[in-house]
Amino acid sequence: MEADPVNDVVTACRALASRGCDTGIGGHVSIRDPERREFWINTFDRTLGEMTRNDVVKLDHDGNNVLDDRFVSLGAEFHAGIYDQRPDVNAIVHTHGFWVTALASLARPLKMRHNLCTLFYEDQVMSPDDSFASIGPTLGMASTILIPWHGGITVGSTVGRAAALHATLEDMAKLDVTLDASGDVPELPEEARLPLRKVIDEMSGYLEQTWDLMTRQAERYVHR
Ligand SMILES: [Zn+2]
Repeated sequence: MEADPVNDVVTACRALASRGCDTGIGGHVSIRDPERREFWINTFDRTLGEMTRNDVVKLDHDGNNVLDDRFVSLGAEFHAGIYDQRPDVNAIVHTHGFWVTALASLARPLKMRHNLCTLFYEDQVMSPDDSFASIGPTLGMASTILIPWHGGITVGSTVGRAAALHATLEDMAKLDVTLDASGDVPELPEEARLPLRKVIDEMSGYLEQTWDLMTRQAERYVHR
């Protein structure tokens, strides 16, 4: 099937909305153009749940909109920065999902309180603030970065992996923040984490299956 990055941005936005990440204006999904230093990204004047093909624009790495003059969030600057520093990254998701933001506001990374948390084990970082000057160097080679008092970013080799990781982060953040009130909750034993991640990601294809699920959720999603 021929690649349709515009459709993929819309699918990811709407699916993330259906998974609780649509908290009003803000948040974006981008996909790298492999042919030139540009990427597709959703505009700022619609919520994630409202996105249609008409709400996807294309930016170059200097922030210029190469298709029209629709406004894209000022925060989109980090997309170009991440693509420049990470050749392995082809898609970036940033939302202010309620639970991701609640976790980020605890100013600590996700605790290992569920087997799916292993998808973030030794692969999540905490930015000191929300400027790209901090986000870029802090991200390093990680897939997930939490931005204190703001939200989260996930990156991936495909839009499916970045979006599925983000939806999983929102779910795991909900579990983590909810359990926090219970005090001393045990975490997954250290030695079980990497083997579990291998089973979940490499052997079960959890993220790819979740992206398939998200495409079905996006089709069913009705914005209210
Ligand atoms: Zn933001």
